[in-house]
Amino acid sequence: MEIKITKTTTPKEKPVDESKLGFGQVMSDHMFLMNYTEGRGWHDARVTPYAPLPMDPSCMVLHYAQEVFEGMKAYRWADGSVHLFRPEENAKRLQDSSDRLCIPQIPVDDFVQAVKTLVAVDKDWVPHQEGTSLYVRPFCFATDNHLGVHASKTYLFCIIGSPSGSYYPNGIDPVNIYVESRDVRAVRGGTGFTKCGGNYAASLRAGEAAATAGYAQVLWLDGVERKYIEEVGAMNVMFKVDGKVITPALNGSILPGITRKSCLELVRSWGVPVEERKITAEELFVAADEGKLEEAWGTGTAAVISPIGEMGWEGKKAAINGGEIGQLSQKLYNTLTGIQWGKVEDVHHWVTNID
Ligand SMILES: *Cc1c(COP(=O)(O)O)cnc(C)c1O
Repeated sequence: MEIKITKTTTPKEKPVDESKLGFGQVMSDHMFLMNYTEGRGWHDARVTPYAPLPMDPSCMVLHYAQEVFEGMKAYRWADGSVHLFRPEENAKRLQDSSDRLCIPQIPVDDFVQAVKTLVAVDKDWVPHQEGTSLYVRPFCFATDNHLGVHASKTYLFCIIGSPSGSYYPNGIDPVNIYVESRDVRAVRGGTGFTKCGGNYAASLRAGEAAATAGYAQVLWLDGVERKYIEEVGAMNVMFKVDGKVITPALNGSILPGITRKSCLELVRSWGVPVEERKITAEELFVAADEGKLEEAWGTGTAAVISPIGEMGWEGKKAAINGGEIGQLSQKLYNTLTGIQWGKVEDVHHWVTNID
């Protein structure tokens, strides 16, 4: 794919204090754009100065939410080089999401090339301080201007980058979570396995209710029986029970996380038994009562590992590992972040240099 590069003539000031970056607040100098037109396919791949996207009020995405996205990071190593973590997995997942939302797919190689090109142009925007990264947000949406309900004939694929701070500036802190029995995030046959904006819109209310009740995250149950654990917040979830790692099987309503996949590959390579299956909230609270719920954690690109210190469900509370991060969670965190920042040997060939 040929990508035309137009560099900004008015570069922005880069954040001076990288400890204050936060998440997704500052955008880098450039963005990647590519258009789709029915009959012509994807065309006009380009990197341009970061700028607002002009939009007609009848633009289809504003009404029917035909949109998919990805989330990934570019990591600066101690030698100054910049790397991505399993970008072809993001490319494949965007294809699966696109397929579900009737959005034309982008070839895996073109996706990876687009991300690498943008990150290379904005390489100076990849922050330096430990734990920081350039968060990369590819997204693709319907751009036809009219109100008829059907798949759009035109689309825009866009990638933006945002220098972001360390997720754990004050060290890893286990969170308390609340089992949500009213709202559901997704149902089988719906869009739960895709990264589409609509899933997030539907999850906000429960998140706010949990926050009001003093919990950091929502533990989602299945949409049919409200019995089986699905995910935690916008992360996949895993438990260590009686020496085994258990995690909900990918059933269509659960997002197939790349961190999830990587954790399971690592855990299996360490000889720890893994079960991907249905898990009820009941089972976890019984295991906690019996002292067998050893660890619990969420997995996702942003936090990598987010240990769970306490769970609340129907008035009951279960403390996990005394509210501290467990050994296996810590080992997963150290290994994954070590590979991402080039400090641990990448035996699985997960990282790619952008140059
Ligand atoms: C993105 C996402 C995840 C985590 O996926 P990663 O590839 O590990 O970042 C988990 N659940 C939901 C709902 C997500 O949107």
